Amino acid sequence: MLRVGINGYGTIGKRVADAVRKQPDMAVQGVGKRSPDYVAVGADEEDYPVYAVDEDRADEFREIGIDLAGTVDDLVAESDIVVDATPSGIGAENRPLYERHETPALFQGGEDATVAEVSFNARVNYDEAEDADYARVVSCNTTGLSRFLAPLHEHYGVDKTRVTLVRRGGDPDQTGRGPINDTVPDPVSIPSHHGPDVQTIFPELDIDTIGLKVPTTMMHVHSVNVTLENRPDDIDEVIDLFKSEDRILTVPDYAGIDGAGTLKDLAQDAGRPRGDIWENCLWEESLTLQGQDLYCMQAIHQEADVVPENVDAIRALEGDHSGPESRALTNETLGIDL
Ligand code: NAD
Repeated sequence: MLRVGINGYGTIGKRVADAVRKQPDMAVQGVGKRSPDYVAVGADEEDYPVYAVDEDRADEFREIGIDLAGTVDDLVAESDIVVDATPSGIGAENRPLYERHETPALFQGGEDATVAEVSFNARVNYDEAEDADYARVVSCNTTGLSRFLAPLHEHYGVDKTRVTLVRRGGDPDQTGRGPINDTVPDPVSIPSHHGPDVQTIFPELDIDTIGLKVPTTMMHVHSVNVTLENRPDDIDEVIDLFKSEDRILTVPDYAGIDGAGTLKDLAQDAGRPRGDIWENCLWEESLTLQGQDLYCMQAIHQEADVVPENVDAIRALEGDHSGPESRALTNETLGIDL
């Protein structure tokens, strides 16, 4: 049983912890927590051993009834692998800690690609992480675009990709983020950083991206145009191709799902934990062919799509499962593509 430490127990960290707990070959060694807040109480109630980031704050944890299992230094020493889910930039600062203990680690998409030997997407380059000690699970948007582009590139060849990313202003718990009443080019310069990030997974692809931020916490929406090298026979062939992908949910016309709100409602009705949607949500009706050009729209649940990718990245670094084996196990245990 692989002992997995989760350092940084926020939006991504708590979801990864719950997903790891569901795996038959992994156990959560504990979670690294900086603040003794409601999230720390939640971790304690879930019976996750809590390790303090700052030793100086140990008394504050005790005052709210949390018996610490140790410090983050202890967590790293006691874990076979660490998932670093700290805020952007902190992961790179933490890397020397993991190196000191010779503990392999995963970093998240907010870090620069240079933080690890490989940037990871389970569908595209699982094998590249097999010899690595450090991997970076790419961001929610890059994960969503990589999953989308992989089957197109394999079947038709992708000549050029253009994406406009309509990005949620913040996550539901980020009360200080915005905009609250605006539509903001973000960044205003073109291309946005998302295209180069996709190239950390697909170095050969030509991709331009433009970003905007809007007042919602629900999901990102991508408006995509891909120029294909070889034209599909018809759009039904493309729809069938996406239907055969395990982490792409093709949204049928009849369902009445007209936006991120109805998608989240569907996920909650389906009993998904926290209303999480681990798959890309691709509107079938939006898939349109014009000559060599394919157009479509997809929604990405920013808090959730990287979660199964983290589970697979743990197995890739461990080296006991092939990519398809790991993805199948993760899908089955989480309830993806059922
Ligand atoms: P978050 O702020 O929700 O959670 C980070 C947690 O780490 C917080 O609980 C914070 O208190 C804690 N922390 C801060 N400093 C720490 C330290 N030194 N040691 C241990 N813990 C520390 O952030 P998040 O949204 O979960 O993002 C984490 C990473 O995942 C970032 O790289 C981010 O870019 C990436 N990511 C986020 C999303 C998203 O939409 N939220 C999606 C994909 C990837």
